[in-house]
Amino acid sequence: MRVFITLLGLVFSISVLGQNIHRCGTVEAISWREAENPGYTKAVQNTFEQVKHILAQKDVNDPTPIYQIPVVVHIVYNTPEENISSDLVYSQIARLNKDYRRLNENAGDTRSEFLPVAADAGIEFYLAGTDPQGNPSGGITRTQTTRTDFAPDFFGNGMDDVKQSSMGGVDAWDTDNYLNIWVCDLLGSGSLFQLLGFAYPPSTAPNWPANSGAPSSDLEGVVIHYGVFGEDNPAATGTLAVADKGRTAVHEIGHYLGLRHIWGDALFTDGCAEDDGLDDTPNASANAGQVCNFNNNTCTDSPVDFPDMIENYMDYAEEQCMNLFTQDQVDIMRSMLETARTELADGSVEPSGIDDMFDASEIGLFPNPNSGSFQLQLPQTEVLQSISIVDIKGTQVAQKSVSGSGRLMGLDFDLPAGAYLIRLQFESGLANKKLIVQ
Ligand SMILES: [Zn+2]
Repeated sequence: MRVFITLLGLVFSISVLGQNIHRCGTVEAISWREAENPGYTKAVQNTFEQVKHILAQKDVNDPTPIYQIPVVVHIVYNTPEENISSDLVYSQIARLNKDYRRLNENAGDTRSEFLPVAADAGIEFYLAGTDPQGNPSGGITRTQTTRTDFAPDFFGNGMDDVKQSSMGGVDAWDTDNYLNIWVCDLLGSGSLFQLLGFAYPPSTAPNWPANSGAPSSDLEGVVIHYGVFGEDNPAATGTLAVADKGRTAVHEIGHYLGLRHIWGDALFTDGCAEDDGLDDTPNASANAGQVCNFNNNTCTDSPVDFPDMIENYMDYAEEQCMNLFTQDQVDIMRSMLETARTELADGSVEPSGIDDMFDASEIGLFPNPNSGSFQLQLPQTEVLQSISIVDIKGTQVAQKSVSGSGRLMGLDFDLPAGAYLIRLQFESGLANKKLIVQ
């Protein structure tokens, strides 16, 4: 319990110091929950301990099966800038899949002493193709709000407003079956407490006490500031530039799947005595402080003294030098999917094949399924600019520039069998069609 006692102090100190961004409010969210509902932190901690107990009894070092998590992104905007593009959403999904499968471009930057513990989580993400009522969906909702922002006040009030239509936000899709990500203006202007994202850890483990005051299941999910959602977000400038790689969502989903900050969140006590509960993340007394300082070594480890693992996604380094989850972190996340979020990755939600910006029903694609050769029939009124093909994990696997205005276009791609989206960029917008290669 000690780790959580100092947390309200943390909120206070941030405001006093006048820091203008706060990377993650997950720990504060738990503190505020505790104030409202005594027993919440104990239950979260019980869940964590229970999973550790399960881990001690089985070998989970194998990242199979691959868990695939359906995602719905709720874009809740007041200004056009906050209504981020679908391309940014796709780039975010791709970022998640690279980082959670250890396919990140900078995996080679992991320092040699940490290579033995750097792990593939075996977890993938895809945009949901059906909504909870079974209707086709692109996995993205867009809602204009009259709220100018969703920044919580100094006491944490309003933190979950974006998740509630009655408060100017958008209600969750069934949180047992979808990972809900709300994207909104979480910073506001002039707010004392400004943060880029937060998430609640699992609270539905079998040991969750009845009437314990857990947050409503409708509040499960992740909230991300619109300016740091997706990779190379054009709004990620100035103080937000430290978070321009789409790794705020990587970090927050880590919390959503049960992970804690690797430095343990101590503030006024001996930071080296407080840990994230995992053995393969070195002790650290403080976070990485928004920079990439590989000389950081805030605690002495035994028997081998490791530097602080600033490249861990659950630290606060600049995102360009984040590059790993550890094996123990992977084990926790996978175990949470097996014990606390069991319906999430059960394959019951189809991947998306329809984009939300353009009526793809006007576009013909035949035959489908095909061998990679097919014809497109294009709408009379639209000018096509480029064609790309992405797999269901959001990774682009083929690209083609187009000129001219033919209405029937023959295409030939060399693709492995599988499900893809063909993305057609028109002058007026983007359309997606599902493509099946056999
Ligand atoms: Zn965090």
